[in-house]
Amino acid sequence: MKRDLAIIGAGPAGMAAATQAAELGLSVTVLDEQPRAGGQIYRDVDRASISRGHLLGKDYTDGARLTEGLRQSGVEHISGAVVWAIEDGFRISYTCAGRGAQIEADRILLATGALERPMPIPGWTLPGVMTAGAGQILLKQSGIVAQGAVLVGSGPLLYLIAAQMVRAGTPPAAMIETQTPGDMIRALRHVGGALRGWPYMAKGLKMLAEIKRAKVPRYTGATQIAVEGEGKADAVTFTHKGGKQRIACETVFLHHGVVPNTQAARSLGIGHHWDPVQGAFVPELDAWGQSDVAGVFIAGDGAGIGGAKLAEHAGRLAALKIAQNAGRLSTQDCDRLATPLRRAVTRERAARPFLDAAYPPYGSALHPADSTIVCRCEEVTAGDIRRYAKLGCLGPNQTKAFGRAGMGPCQGRYCGLTVTALLAEANGRSPDETGYYRIRPPLKPVTLGELAAMNDTDLDAAE
Ligand SMILES: Cc1cc2nc3c(=O)[nH]c(=O)nc-3n(C[C@H](O)[C@H](O)[C@H](O)COP(=O)(O)OP(=O)(O)OC[C@H]3O[C@@H](n4cnc5c(N)ncnc54)[C@H](O)[C@@H]3O)c2cc1C
Repeated sequence: MKRDLAIIGAGPAGMAAATQAAELGLSVTVLDEQPRAGGQIYRDVDRASISRGHLLGKDYTDGARLTEGLRQSGVEHISGAVVWAIEDGFRISYTCAGRGAQIEADRILLATGALERPMPIPGWTLPGVMTAGAGQILLKQSGIVAQGAVLVGSGPLLYLIAAQMVRAGTPPAAMIETQTPGDMIRALRHVGGALRGWPYMAKGLKMLAEIKRAKVPRYTGATQIAVEGEGKADAVTFTHKGGKQRIACETVFLHHGVVPNTQAARSLGIGHHWDPVQGAFVPELDAWGQSDVAGVFIAGDGAGIGGAKLAEHAGRLAALKIAQNAGRLSTQDCDRLATPLRRAVTRERAARPFLDAAYPPYGSALHPADSTIVCRCEEVTAGDIRRYAKLGCLGPNQTKAFGRAGMGPCQGRYCGLTVTALLAEANGRSPDETGYYRIRPPLKPVTLGELAAMNDTDLDAAE
């Protein structure tokens, strides 16, 4: 059976789009690699809300509204489905419960969300160092919080995770923050937007007050940050107000923002451009989330970072246009239903320029020291990439031939932006001129066993 619509990702964008599309009479299948619907923000919300909702906050428990909507919609949701190829037409290959399967759909919505921006600093590959999002996943899914962890980086998510750790009774030992007073002054240019997006600002101030009450030491404007240790993390060292500091710890959470996860979009040949404000590549889309590849839409953080509420509205907008294209909705009704959603999108976007300017990525992690590993899978250092540039390497695809960067299991997800930045700087070219890895299937690792156990086309693993 060929569906009207296949959605990759069951976060706020995917869940809202699926529910809206089903209401308009489309046959919809949602695939997500997670065992339950929710995406990043609402990960495991149906299970964890009961025991840990009070720690994770109302913004988290609110996600149950969307998971319930998805259940009620009758949409087919294949959980635990890792999508690794999307072919024209569209045929989607995924693995689920140890075997390969495929489904077909007339249209596709990519709602694959964001990834944490890689933060290559000296020592970031030591055991005990992980992204702050990974630390938060432990809390959401298993109720586990690292004792005495040190948070390093910047951004609203860092404060959220710190506040959640405080509520769990295991506050971070310290926060080593990279944003400077100058960043905040530059952000004041966008204070009008920040005031229009006041709920975000109010939440931010509340989280900072929680962190302060818990007496978590904060070191802002930190530079020269490194993780020390022999075989595992032992301490974080950094410079603060001109003095060298060292904080002993076994767990370090790194975070300096999130970037769109563009792997699936790139594998379909969708055009992308560099967004200097967000410091990332974003796909070329119209106001409905329609890409330059016919039949493929993108909604949520994968289209540009905007947060969970914006992702939800964008998912619904895309679903309206998809329904119109499928002949299930008149142009007039599509535009009418879209009007309040567009207003909501504008409201949700208001605070973004302020946040982007106030919490820029940590400069030294965008241009790491020569000895720092940038491609973790293949152990390629920043110095290696600079050396390739001297030998004439102009773009990330060539680095694969020079030294296998981007060819490991993550397929460049965690080094792509750093490699582009290093080559752009070394060659004096813009990120757009430098480009990004050419992404090909498999998007995610797939075993021979899973391929050998592949069902016939359109006989999915859930059946
Ligand atoms: C680690 C992390 C933690 C975050 N925590 C918070 C938070 O606590 N609060 C907050 O306000 N914001 C948080 N954010 C930001 C938040 O993710 C977004 O604002 C919001 O969830 C975006 O919604 P979305 O629907 O676009 O994508 P997401 O919610 O990210 O959902 C995308 C879904 O796509 C699935 N997916 C991606 N690729 C594939 C594939 N190949 N095959 C199958 N499935 C796939 C993923 O499993 C995921 O469930 C977090 C971001 C990250 C990266």
